[in-house]
Amino acid sequence: MKRNNTSELKQLLVSLVGNTPFGIITIGFHGEITMINQQAADLLGIEVQVSKVLGQSVLKYFKVESHFYQSLSEMLTSGRKSMDISLEPFDDKYLSIRIRPFINGLLITLEDITDFAKSSKQLRKRKEELEFKNNELEQFAYIASHDLQEPLNTVRGFIKLIKLKGMESIPTEYQGYFDHIEQSSERMSSQLTGLLEYSRIGKHGDKEEHQINSILNEVRDDLKTHLDDTRAVLEWAEMPIVNGVKAELISLFRNLINNAMKYVEKDVIPKVEVGYRALEGYHEFVVKDNGIGIDSPYHDKIFVIYQRLFNKSQYPGDGIGLAHCKKIVELHGGKIWVKSELGKGSAFYFTIER
Ligand code: ADP
Repeated sequence: MKRNNTSELKQLLVSLVGNTPFGIITIGFHGEITMINQQAADLLGIEVQVSKVLGQSVLKYFKVESHFYQSLSEMLTSGRKSMDISLEPFDDKYLSIRIRPFINGLLITLEDITDFAKSSKQLRKRKEELEFKNNELEQFAYIASHDLQEPLNTVRGFIKLIKLKGMESIPTEYQGYFDHIEQSSERMSSQLTGLLEYSRIGKHGDKEEHQINSILNEVRDDLKTHLDDTRAVLEWAEMPIVNGVKAELISLFRNLINNAMKYVEKDVIPKVEVGYRALEGYHEFVVKDNGIGIDSPYHDKIFVIYQRLFNKSQYPGDGIGLAHCKKIVELHGGKIWVKSELGKGSAFYFTIER
């Protein structure tokens, strides 16, 4: 019975070693191969019968300069008994190699991880390319917005000078043009400032824990004049502590609350409500208003930089606030969206990773 059990166990072991997708090698303390399965021989490109390599040094099948060769030689001399090597390039393959102590020696398992290694290499390369492009774009936006301000300031300076000193020498039918040039250059300047701020999002420091309650109090202070002028009501419920960049969280709430007060019918007292609920892995906030609402075809477009639904004379603005919000939310691992119908107010939702 006992003998039967032992022979069954032996059979099981032989079958496991023969059928596992892993290459298995056992070696003695001097590196000599005591057992090797066909899979290991195939992975190492050993073309002779496996029984012929018994007693040979396993090091013979690895290049002297390889990480495995050097680590194993070191292990054999130092007496260390376990080691993991991932991504050992082996000809056109990548192997993951594990070494563990075994009866009278060491057990080496080899796994072909070429597909995984190639796809993670491609992903890493793609990520690096994207980061590079992103950086380049941000730098471009920064330089463009920063450097274009200077010539624009010169234009604005000369227009002011002409309006102050040289208007009488300009025919009256042309004098109005100067107002247009002045307004356009003011507008361009404010758009460039917005773009500059946009390119700086993400560079305001590290994330820390902040009480949203105090962030909202700061926003209320910033918007005090506007709140007083419009007699707007701004309310919020119990707010959580959030891990984020303070200046960016302030800018996010300020933009949304400012819009909520701005886009209302004349003579309507703005009512703005900030709500919160905790979700699995996320904080979800909502800024609701009783304003003019947004028609559904524009629900996505409004988050794109410079997209506006009105001209400046109806509602002032540069069309950059919601693009700011989107970038801030995404840098905080969340999403932003709007639920709204024309004439029925809007609710801007956004999430932040916990
Ligand atoms: P801006 O307010 O400077 O135009 P935003 O990027 O903040 O820029 O908003 C883009 C557009 O989205 C606005 O021009 C407006 O048409 C629309 N919008 C934003 N917030 C609201 C809101 N609370 N209610 C109605 N429309 C809004």
